Amino acid sequence: MSKLTNKVAFVTGGSRGIGAAIAKRLAADGANVAITYAKDAGAASAVVKAIELGGGKAVAIQADAADVVAVKNAVEQAVATFGRLDVLVNNAGTAIPKPFEEATLEEMDRVIDINIRGVFATTQAALKHLNDGGRIIMIGSAVGERAIAPGLVPYAATKAAVRMFTQALSREVGSRGITVNNVQPGPIDTDLNPASGDWAVPQKAATALDRYGRADEIAAMVAFVAGPESSYITGANLTVDGGMNA
Ligand code: NDP
Repeated sequence: MSKLTNKVAFVTGGSRGIGAAIAKRLAADGANVAITYAKDAGAASAVVKAIELGGGKAVAIQADAADVVAVKNAVEQAVATFGRLDVLVNNAGTAIPKPFEEATLEEMDRVIDINIRGVFATTQAALKHLNDGGRIIMIGSAVGERAIAPGLVPYAATKAAVRMFTQALSREVGSRGITVNNVQPGPIDTDLNPASGDWAVPQKAATALDRYGRADEIAAMVAFVAGPESSYITGANLTVDGGMNA
């Protein structure tokens, strides 16, 4: 028996980057996994196929995190497919990096809609189904605690909000043994934040380990928080950033 055998996980934005690594890792640990994606059905089905090749079960559901109806339907579809829900990973998120004076309200709304409103809608839809002892895991950001570079005002503000969302919600669901934790990645090499290019230079330099992280290094923390050994950890902000915020 693996750590997550007979458990069902729902991972938003699970078709690429950190979310894909999380979905594959939770499946390797024995969970049946539902992933959502916004646009790229091909990438989502590649994740499903990779999980199935490893002997696991997965399903991909299109649901833009900014679309509350789509999010609710996706949660219902996952529960209908696998019969239960034990782990929610709110991973879908976006950034629109630019100097603050050039940022628009429309961009701010988009970042809020995905990074905060989407987390609210998904968590509320999932909580109805989440079994006692379940896990709610946010993917916040190290910049939700410390702004290491310019250009991220809306993004950092939403990730700081995710931090308090986590802490506040942990106080409402603890009586059911449900934990709520916020994994805060530092610079991780993905399409959103590639390790090559000018933007990467100051981020890499800010880490104590002098390197970008890999998506599987975030997935390892998520797998721990999703598993039975993390049962007394809740309301916590768990930073995995190569020492960027040290
Ligand atoms: P990527 O852009 O590489 O991947 C994003 C994933 O989310 C894709 O599967 C994408 O699917 C999906 N997605 C994007 N927009 C939406 C949406 N509106 N609704 C549903 N799914 C969506 O991002 P990362 O893997 O880098 O980031 C994942 C999370 O980690 C985010 O919350 C991000 O803020 C956070 N993070 C990332 C860091 C990094 O350095 N990479 C650092 C700190 C935090 P599709 O292709 O279909 O759009």
